[in-house]
Amino acid sequence: MTMLRPQHAGIPLPQPTPVSGPFWDGCAAGELRYQRCRTCGHAEFDPVWVCRHCGSDDMAWQVSDGRGEVYSHTVVWRPQTPEFTVPYAVVIVNFDEGFTLLTNLIGCTVEDVVTGMRVRVVFHQIGGGITLPYVEPDPEGNHGN
Ligand SMILES: [Zn+2]
Repeated sequence: MTMLRPQHAGIPLPQPTPVSGPFWDGCAAGELRYQRCRTCGHAEFDPVWVCRHCGSDDMAWQVSDGRGEVYSHTVVWRPQTPEFTVPYAVVIVNFDEGFTLLTNLIGCTVEDVVTGMRVRVVFHQIGGGITLPYVEPDPEGNHGN
């Protein structure tokens, strides 16, 4: 039983851009930010200049409640680059506001990872001015929302 934990400093870090900067600023502030189209209401991630649903450029940043459900997952035992500590669990999470985020699951064992599990976001500073969003099992489970 191997506990899944955040990565250590030394892994390749994200490079915030003008369009993704507000997302990374949010992580540093402990907020999971996503965009919602003011024209059609579609929730978007990753960050975009124009809505993927209707093409509008009237995108507003919003703060997620940080809770969602694992849509799909895999466990990595052989990393693409040696800086990563294995195993780590890559998950696609459907957040309750309607956007999807590819991230890593921590705070449980490899054996605990299942499709449909409820998770919540948790942030870890990794240096270089970057704070990474992870998810962990949601102790509130399926009630609430
Ligand atoms: Zn739209």
